[in-house]
Amino acid sequence: MLKVVNFFTEALKQNHLSHSYLLSGTEDLNLAKEIAKHILCKQEHTACGSCSSCLKLASDNHPDFLVIEPDGASIKNAQVEQFQEYVFIRPFESQHKIILFNKVHLMTERAQNRMLKVLEEPPEYAVFFFLTEQADMLLETVISRCQILNVHASDKPKLNEQLTEKALDWVMGIEKNDMARILEIGAYAKQDKIRFNALLFCLSDILRDVMIFRETKNYQLISEENLTILNYKDYLPRFVASISRKKNIQIISCIEEIDQKIKNNMNFDLTVDKLLFKCID
Ligand SMILES: [Zn+2]
Repeated sequence: MLKVVNFFTEALKQNHLSHSYLLSGTEDLNLAKEIAKHILCKQEHTACGSCSSCLKLASDNHPDFLVIEPDGASIKNAQVEQFQEYVFIRPFESQHKIILFNKVHLMTERAQNRMLKVLEEPPEYAVFFFLTEQADMLLETVISRCQILNVHASDKPKLNEQLTEKALDWVMGIEKNDMARILEIGAYAKQDKIRFNALLFCLSDILRDVMIFRETKNYQLISEENLTILNYKDYLPRFVASISRKKNIQIISCIEEIDQKIKNNMNFDLTVDKLLFKCID
């Protein structure tokens, strides 16, 4: 997931944005929104979270961002007609206008053909995203107009040093029952859903290691990759000593629950707050 976002931040840096992207293997609107956030952000495409564009996007209120999803069983001709009108109006406040079709394999053939006309001669500011887990159901002519990016929901975020450090910091905050620290890291994570996902993944990974070490006291059962993290070997016994078994399990299961909720597009801030409280109590 991170990989595909990085792909777009690089493309933006080099000013190499194409007109149409087929994100094959995912129907995750949050992921697509995160990419849109980078494209539309007014602070040099950083997805800063605080410019007017990021704020509007976060509240599903951005005039240059349109999501089209199946109306009932399919995406119908009338929906594409509507989109055609929209796309030829110049962007209201950004350099780009993003139109996102989710579950695009459910678009009727007639609608696909209509859409194709726009894809053949798109306005210069337009960027199209097509999300589907069944790209093989699309018309060949549509696929050939797109840059294809294979995204697999199971792509686990790679632990990078900065995120691991933050996650460790979080665990230490839990260890010390340091509310300010936990909330501070929560605030850092909330600015960016993808970052938050990755941080959750790190946190869960670390807490699983703590659990294994708690039961076995055996470093050989800990993933080699994690052991390369500076001081990781020393952290494990410390965490075992300071976080109860119950809390350890509680937070792991809470993370799993949140992961599921985020995938199901639940209210993001609310689910994050729930996790933060679990960490503190
Ligand atoms: Zn921004």
